[in-house]
Amino acid sequence: MTIHAQPCAVPSTVSPDGVLRERGQREVFCGLTGIVWLHRKIQDAFFLVVGSRTCAHLIQSAAGVMIFAEPRFATAIMEERDLAGLVDANDELDRIVTQLLARRPEIKLLFLVGSCPSEVIKLDLSRAALRLSQRFSPGVRVLNYSGSGIETTFTQGEDACLASLVPVLPAADRGARPSLLVVGALADVVEDQFRRTFTALGIDQVSFLPPRRSSELPAIGPETRVLLAQPFLGDTARALEERGCRRIPAPFPLGGEGTALWLAAAAEAFGVSRAHVDRTIAPLKARAERALARYRAQLAGKRVFLFPDSQIEIPLARFLAREIGMELVEVGTPYLHRDHLAAELKLLPQDVLLSEGQDVERQLDRCRAARPDLVVCGLGLANPLEAEGLTTKWSIELIFTPIQGFEQAGDLAELFARPLLRQTRLAV
Ligand code: SF4
Repeated sequence: MTIHAQPCAVPSTVSPDGVLRERGQREVFCGLTGIVWLHRKIQDAFFLVVGSRTCAHLIQSAAGVMIFAEPRFATAIMEERDLAGLVDANDELDRIVTQLLARRPEIKLLFLVGSCPSEVIKLDLSRAALRLSQRFSPGVRVLNYSGSGIETTFTQGEDACLASLVPVLPAADRGARPSLLVVGALADVVEDQFRRTFTALGIDQVSFLPPRRSSELPAIGPETRVLLAQPFLGDTARALEERGCRRIPAPFPLGGEGTALWLAAAAEAFGVSRAHVDRTIAPLKARAERALARYRAQLAGKRVFLFPDSQIEIPLARFLAREIGMELVEVGTPYLHRDHLAAELKLLPQDVLLSEGQDVERQLDRCRAARPDLVVCGLGLANPLEAEGLTTKWSIELIFTPIQGFEQAGDLAELFARPLLRQTRLAV
């Protein structure tokens, strides 16, 4: 569901670092959307949304087309009598969970996912998760997080989910060897490629969060170095740091340059020599550059406007400007985590207009006035803008598609070339 928040007009401000800050109406999907990719990643997990029929429809329509087996998500639908407090919602929830676990013995990790309705009636899902975990332990672990659309953007669902896993990660043994933890859901094929590259670099103690199975939760401690694979994981990173882990500052692995810098930052943290890094990644980076050359010819000089939606807009903008040669009209992001994005911000063109938050009507006016060649935006804005003759790219596709790493650099560029090509064909 696309939601509208903060309907009152709040004046825009410009922060000391030149970023336009807007606090008006927003157009975003809620954090439940993360279930679409997370349920495919953690293969023995189940996501039970405690929400309304609207929440159920959102999940079904977002993920429905990808279901090829019995889904590992569902909605415990709260009816009016739940919302009116006429029945004990906790009893209902316990009954549904008991039925679910009896019918699906393969579930080892159950997430109770909060929604706007469950938060409105203040249903305490953390207590429910504790109660149910005690009841179904050791076979099933029950955790909770919020996917509600109140004050969130859709990728925050992944952040909340991963942050809920951090307290249950085992502690690494005292004196354990330094290890690398890559944080952020990646497609399995991308994860396998990165693992091979880390091995070639000489970093062999590598694990990923989320893991593919709940039995593979990585052990963490002061010797764990965290490498974020996604820029929207502020809460997860903070929870890991509270457990003693240290984050490796780096750009994000989008495009040939971003991936090379991301790997080099990890290698440096593990004392790998620069010469070995260059030797190892040079052929991979060269292949990515060859794949990108074709798209650069099509896209260089085209003007792109990014609306705030996925929180990966800044790394994307860096990739589009530096590796594809596109001109950035405006780069919007729902939140700007200046620390996690510091390495990215340094790589953006000096004069770029960055905006944080949204005042959708004002931003639409700026977009219309600029008439960019391509607009990257959420689904709610894409159709109206297409109707006005603008060419759009759905930002959510950039989260569903494997785009990280050298091998995927060409695929990432193609996502931007395709709508422009379609437009050309339609115009013939
Ligand atoms: S969690 Fe809130 S925003 Fe998301 S689908 Fe449910 S009601 Fe809508």
